[in-house]
Amino acid sequence: MKSRAEDHAVVVGAGPAGLFAARVLADVFGRVTVVERDDPADGDRRGVPQSGHAHDFLARGHQITEEWFPGIGEEMVAGGAHAGDIARDVRWVIAGRPLVRSESGLATVISSRVFREGHLRARVEALPRVRLLGGQDVAGLSFSDDGSVVDGVLLGPGGAGKLPADLVVDASGRGSRTPVWLEEHGHGRVTEEKLKVDVGYATQVVRAPGDAFAGDVCINIVASPDSPRGGACQRVEGDRAVVTLYGVLGDHPPTDPEGFLSFAKSLAAPDIHEVLEVAEPLTEVRRYRFPASLRRRYEQMDSFPRGLLMLGDAVCSLNPRYGQGMAFAAMQALALRDHLAEEEAPTAEAYFRRLTEQVVDPVWNMTLLSDLSFPGVPGERTPELLQVLELVGRTQVAATLDGSLALTCLRVFGLLDPPTALLDPAVQERVHRTLSRQPASTGPEQ
Ligand SMILES: Cc1cc2nc3c(=O)[nH]c(=O)nc-3n(C[C@H](O)[C@H](O)[C@H](O)COP(=O)(O)OP(=O)(O)OC[C@H]3O[C@@H](n4cnc5c(N)ncnc54)[C@H](O)[C@@H]3O)c2cc1C
Repeated sequence: MKSRAEDHAVVVGAGPAGLFAARVLADVFGRVTVVERDDPADGDRRGVPQSGHAHDFLARGHQITEEWFPGIGEEMVAGGAHAGDIARDVRWVIAGRPLVRSESGLATVISSRVFREGHLRARVEALPRVRLLGGQDVAGLSFSDDGSVVDGVLLGPGGAGKLPADLVVDASGRGSRTPVWLEEHGHGRVTEEKLKVDVGYATQVVRAPGDAFAGDVCINIVASPDSPRGGACQRVEGDRAVVTLYGVLGDHPPTDPEGFLSFAKSLAAPDIHEVLEVAEPLTEVRRYRFPASLRRRYEQMDSFPRGLLMLGDAVCSLNPRYGQGMAFAAMQALALRDHLAEEEAPTAEAYFRRLTEQVVDPVWNMTLLSDLSFPGVPGERTPELLQVLELVGRTQVAATLDGSLALTCLRVFGLLDPPTALLDPAVQERVHRTLSRQPASTGPEQ
């Protein structure tokens, strides 16, 4: 691999994707500058309006960040976050029934998103080759005269100042303006795929007595086609908890206190409502509307400049109710790392192919499958797909009766195993045996 010790990489955006990208780039580039529009130290930043809502960090993300930033989980716990085992200490309700508890050996650390991002940012800023430039808007990309190379970013009002770079990585989130800039410089418009899900979120931060959780760190009531409302209630720093409720396809939770409470009561299990009943509200209820999952097909572009790569929500923004975005960004940064390590002269084409095949396709297809299990979500349902949905649905029900199947499901939800793990013949045999032990008339026991 060509040495890049003299080279400068610029990352646009200091969200999770930008921070993970900086961590990877710092192993290769002599200098890395992360440019962030907001003041990163502001808790609730304008650039990430979703950050006040409950943010899960899936097991795969936890594994990757512990590898990159050893001890970060312990550090967060020392600062007030809550650690647990994803199968023992998280209360999961799926298909209206609690998953069987067990010991998975897979750690989770629950905190607010702002707190987690603050810890990640501190670790990245401590890297000797990385500098974070806050309060600077990237107003454009600097292109060579023929548009074939990106050689920096344009900063300041009207993009008057240029920050030169040997590589620019756009991690500016779903609102990334790169599609427009590429088109303006003759590369055509990237194709966008959207899947309408119309998810509405409502969130309140409360003060909850520790015993309200009965020793658990988090309660996840997962929406299912039979009960399409869900919620997450997470113990975060101090004695606070973040309570997020959501509904799909326009069935959005209200933000007035009574409406919020009665939406919580309408979930498939009473657990979150019970916490709210003993909690003291600390904030108003805040809402967020997520109309559609969005995927930008950079890998299909006929023309793309050298010197530019992208990752995170800027490439693919997923239905948030699966809690995947940050772990997904970490997995994309792994693809960036592998790409930089293997290619003699890395091309954007090779990068996007790798990103698509190794990370985006598998995760996008997994969420697509789950979304299509909701009858109102538009999309083609072939007989094969309906069969897979049936098997996955049965597996989830069986996971409420069998600890081993619960673990299989949690590993898939945590992005540790591909969704095909649910269809494995041995797993399906166990599902069959588990469900056939149940009396047909009463369904699974709770
Ligand atoms: C309601 C909701 C709930 C969610 N829940 C979860 C969850 O439970 N778990 C999970 O993992 N994910 C969740 N997500 C998804 C998660 O928030 C995103 O996937 C994640 O933030 C993506 O990270 P990112 O770094 O790509 O983008 P962002 O977090 O959006 O960061 C982009 C950064 O770029 C900066 N920026 C933008 N433009 C410029 C510019 N021109 N110049 C300089 N800086 C710029 C922004 O200020 C921002 O800091 C949720 C999303 C929503 C909407």
